[in-house]
Amino acid sequence: MKTINNINNIPLHYARLTNHPYGTKGEQRNFSIDEGFLTILEAAFKEIFDNCPFGLPEIVTCAGIFVNKPGQHGHGKAFDLDAIFWQDESLVTLNFINQKVLYIGVESFLRKHFGIVLNYLYPNHKDHWHIDTSVPVDYNQTSKSETLYVQMALKHIYHKEILVDGLWGRQTSGAVNEVFARLQISTPITTKVNYLKFLDITGKIAFKLCEEKNSPLNLLDNLNDVIDDLSFQDQLTVKQALNSFLDHQETSEWLTTFDESNHHDLDHIIDDIIA
Ligand SMILES: [Zn+2]
Repeated sequence: MKTINNINNIPLHYARLTNHPYGTKGEQRNFSIDEGFLTILEAAFKEIFDNCPFGLPEIVTCAGIFVNKPGQHGHGKAFDLDAIFWQDESLVTLNFINQKVLYIGVESFLRKHFGIVLNYLYPNHKDHWHIDTSVPVDYNQTSKSETLYVQMALKHIYHKEILVDGLWGRQTSGAVNEVFARLQISTPITTKVNYLKFLDITGKIAFKLCEEKNSPLNLLDNLNDVIDDLSFQDQLTVKQALNSFLDHQETSEWLTTFDESNHHDLDHIIDDIIA
């Protein structure tokens, strides 16, 4: 066990305190960590921030590494990542719905290094990523957390109309085949080298998309996700209001122009990255 207060000189902060609540930058703290696990974290952080358009962050907030409880935390071999703060940008994991592309970009690179990554859609992990190395890096169709990630990427990065439920089925495998063909990656996804390539390319595409401006369509997409979390009665009311806005002829013509340019941008980015 080793004691650290930074990773690759990025200060590690703790923000789960009354005077430093979740979502703030918190305060720097010492964490005990297994040395072998630290080496993997260092490699992961290096790769994420070498690729990230915002560069090196000023602070990463962590909810815990060595924690006196069963499982990988009990050995200092798991990391709970709350948020990342760059100079002019931040990613707070609880804000996934409004920052899906950046979130998926970071997670894609995390998954290249950690066999277990539990994210926003996995039960009890809305406010942090839990990462550990208790299983090898690969894609297993029966893994709920891995399938959730793949479905999130298919939907929010590649604009496939699919259900994000963590269950592998015909719809997901069909969309995987289409996207892998477009990215010139061999199938099946369960072959490690193919999966790693998907993670790498998806991470790079997501980060590239972060540099582009959010289009009104992305904002509408976020709004729809927020509506889906409302009670049934509230959903009806808000959806009715939103639909009358969307059905308006001028609104829909205006939105169509963004739809075309969105797909155009993605195609360009894919071509650049796989070239
Ligand atoms: Zn954890």
